[in-house]
This record gives sequence, C-alpha cells and structure tokens, in this order.
Amino acid sequence: MTTDTAAQAAYVVAALLFILSLAGLSQHKTSRSGVVWGIAGMVVALAATVGLASRSISATGLVLIVVATALGAGIGLWRARVVEMTGMPELIAIMHSLVGLAATFVGWNGYLDVDAELSGSLLGIHHAEVFIGVFIGAVTFTGSVVAYLKLSARINSRPLTLPGKHVLNIGALVAFVGLTIAFVARPSMGLLIAVTVIALALGAHLVASIGGGDMPVVVSMLNSYSGWAAAASGFLLANNLLIVTGALVGSSGAYLSYIMCKAMNRSFISVIAGGFGTPAATADEGEQGEHREISAEETAELLGNATSVIITPGYGMAVAQAQYPVAELARKLRDRGVEVRFGIHPVAGRLPGHMNVLLAEANVPYDIVLEMDEINDDFAATSVVLVIGANDTVNPAATDNPSSPIAGMPVLHVWEAANVVVFKRSMAAGYAGVQNPLFFRENTQMLFGDARQRVEDILRGLDSLDAPVPEMAGTSR
Ligand code: NDP
Repeated sequence: MTTDTAAQAAYVVAALLFILSLAGLSQHKTSRSGVVWGIAGMVVALAATVGLASRSISATGLVLIVVATALGAGIGLWRARVVEMTGMPELIAIMHSLVGLAATFVGWNGYLDVDAELSGSLLGIHHAEVFIGVFIGAVTFTGSVVAYLKLSARINSRPLTLPGKHVLNIGALVAFVGLTIAFVARPSMGLLIAVTVIALALGAHLVASIGGGDMPVVVSMLNSYSGWAAAASGFLLANNLLIVTGALVGSSGAYLSYIMCKAMNRSFISVIAGGFGTPAATADEGEQGEHREISAEETAELLGNATSVIITPGYGMAVAQAQYPVAELARKLRDRGVEVRFGIHPVAGRLPGHMNVLLAEANVPYDIVLEMDEINDDFAATSVVLVIGANDTVNPAATDNPSSPIAGMPVLHVWEAANVVVFKRSMAAGYAGVQNPLFFRENTQMLFGDARQRVEDILRGLDSLDAPVPEMAGTSR
C-alpha cells in the first residue's frame, strides 16, 4: 500500500469517527463518548496528514510541524482546562476566529504558490477557490473576533446601527461577486487585497449589527462559517478530509442556527444578514415604576407556604455557581410536599443547553426539568416562581412591547404566577441590554445579592421554619 492510499484510508476512518462524534454529541447521555470519538478522529487525521506531508517536505519542515502541533495542542489543553463554563461561548468564538484566519492564510498561500501543472479552466477554478476561501475565512475571522468581544463584555452587546447598514452589506456582497469574476479572468494581488479588506470589514459589521439577544444564533452561525471556510481550504489543499469535515461542521452549524432561530422566533435569513429586515428596535422602555424587595427569610416563608414552585435559572445562576444550593433547595421543598419544577429557556445562560448541564451536574432529576414550551402554560397555576439569575429569558417586554429589541422572542411567562422572586445583584439589564418590566410588577419582589449566597440563606431560613405548611401562598397578583 502506498503512503497516499494509506492516508486516504485513514481519512475515511477519521471522517467516520467525526460522524460518530456528532451523533454522540446530540444527546446528553452519549455526549462524553461523542467527545472521545472526536478526539480519536482528530488524532487519526493528524497522523495521516503528517505522514502524507513527510513525503514532500524536509526534516526541518517536519520538526516545525511537530513543534507547531505540540504548541497548539498545549495551548488548547490549557485553555480548555482553565475555562469557566460561563466563558465557553467566547472561547468557542475565538477558536472560530482561528479557523477563519487559517483559511485566509491558506487562500493567500494558494495564490502565492500556484501549482505549475495547473492551466486553462483548472487554473480558473483554482483562482475562484482562492478568492472564495479568502472571503469566507476573513468574514469568519473578524465576525468571530467581534462575537468574542461582545460575549466577553469587552464591547457593548447592543446592535451597531450604521446609516444604510443593509446597503453596506449588500454592496460588499456585490463587490465580492464582481471582484471574483475579475480575479478569475486576471488574478492580481491588488484584487486579493481588496477582497480581504472587504471581507474583514463585512464580518465585523455583520456581527456588530446583531443585538445581544440574537448572539446565540450568531455563535452557531460562525461555527457554520468556520466549517465552510475549512471546506474551502480543503479544496485548495486537495485534502478530502478537510472538505468532508468542513462540510460536516458547516451543515451541522447551519442546522443548529436554524433550530435556534425557530426557538427564538427569528428569521434565519435576517440574522445571517446582520439583522436584515428586522424593524429598528427603539429600546424605548418608558417609565418603569417602583420595585419591591424581599429578604431571604421572607422568601423562605413564602416557599414554606407554597404548594407549587417553578425555578427558572439563567446566566446569573451559572456565574454564582448556585446550581448546588438550588438543587438542595428543590430537594428540601419536595421533601416538604411542594411540587417543584424547573423551566428552561432554550437560550438561558451563554451556550445551548447551559442550564441543563449545570442542573445535571448538581443531580437535579431530569423529569422535573422542563423545556419552555412544556411549562409555559403552568405558570398561572403556580404559587411561587424563583427567577435565579435570569433576565432576558423572562422579560415580558418581548411579548408586550413591539418596539423592544427583543420583541417577538418567546420567553418564560413567569409573571403569570401568584408570586415571583427575582434573584440578582442589582437592577441592571440582562445580556440584551434591555430593562425588564417584570421587576416592577405588583407580584414581583427582588431578592438582591449573589444568587448562591441568597439561596443558601433561604436554605437556612427553611431549616428554621417550624412544621411544613403545604398551603397555597397569598395570591397578591
Ligand atoms: P441574562 O444574561 O439576560 O441575565 C443574567 C442576569 O443574571 C443579569 O441580569 C445579572 O444581573 C444576573 N446575575 C449575574 N451574576 C449574578 C450573580 N452572581 N448572582 C445573581 N444574579 C446574577 O440571562 P438569561 O439567562 O435570562 O438570558 C441569556 C441571554 O444571553 C439572552 O439574551 C441570550 O440571547 C444571550 N446569549 C445566550 C447564549 C446561549 O447560547 N444560551 C449565547 C450568547 C448569548 P445583576 O448584574 O444585577 O446581578
């Protein structure tokens, strides 16, 4: 067997391992094995690629590849070990930016180092691949960097609204098509520099134009772009595995974006086009009124008298690492005969399934953890809702205020319950930067402070309550 045949066979094995990985990652129970399949696939892919490369490069080149791989793997391991769960989306975004940057470099290399055997239409196809690869790579690069900056709160998450922003985006796409035709007809470094600059600006502008509430879709969309960028590099490098893997990442990312758009009642096309077609949200929040406060002891009393409780966790629960005392609170209340359930919004936290992962980590039984659609009709018959570090996902402005930046996004109808207790540290807005009228409703009380500490205070408060009183709390709506 030649090295080439062995490498192609190894590529088929790696591609199958990647498909197994995706299948494993689609369910909680099998997700760990999904990660293991993915690592195995990557090891096979790396070994085969280095084996293939070893035929045509010098010993120094090989040493450089090994050093670069070790360095990259070391940095990857270190980041993965130290990253907090709440920092995952920004880590993913910055990883996508590296894929985009690599695709841009591969494209540039394809232009500077053209295979001498290519001629005629094959050369034209090669140049089209170069141009498209550089374009997708550069859009992914700056788009991911802006997503990273927004997700890590280094820049404001509000949408950038430049005058004529859609004309700018469409103009950039038209320029790309025109420049591609010109480049295939007569390749030049000037045209390649022009498309790189346009794509870098377009990527940054597309993501900057998207509001905080739509960032989950943007992250999965950039995931998809990074896949297509890798596939474009695969064509340039004539590497079948890169084409297959890029297409797997590209299509699964696109499908995830589509599912998230549906869950958030957003138009897929509108989000990928930088908010195209969505009315300009004014964020006119008007006069909100007074809010009321409640102490942990009073909350414990309220809970002690409740018959049914729904807990809706959000990003703040992750920040406070409050899932363990929250799980303990659920257990204690259930022991007292209270019906306790969790209501999970599809984009609560900072990554898909974030809350489910945290609650599973704290051993909350799966059967009391319900999705938004499963629980939304039950709030009206609930004594107490505990909103633990959630904000945008429980904001009634999404349903009541058509001019709100999050208008139309489905939210948990917590305000329909008899009593709502909101755990947060201040009156600050949520991720989308929108004030929350829930905090000013008559049946809402604010419990200020770190969510973990406040839940621990409530646990102590429950301990000091005398006998359990499984009666309905007052219905002061
Ligand atoms: P939000 O981000 O809207 O709000 C979280 C709230 O938690 C804040 O208002 C904050 O208020 C509070 N908080 C922070 N730290 C603590 C703490 N230690 N103790 C108590 N409270 C705390 O959360 P949601 O989960 O409701 O919504 C998620 C948002 O993130 C949505 O807009 C979603 O679109 C976006 N997003 C989601 C992604 C995903 O894939 N799930 C990815 C990217 C973005 P205060 O500062 O006053 O304490």
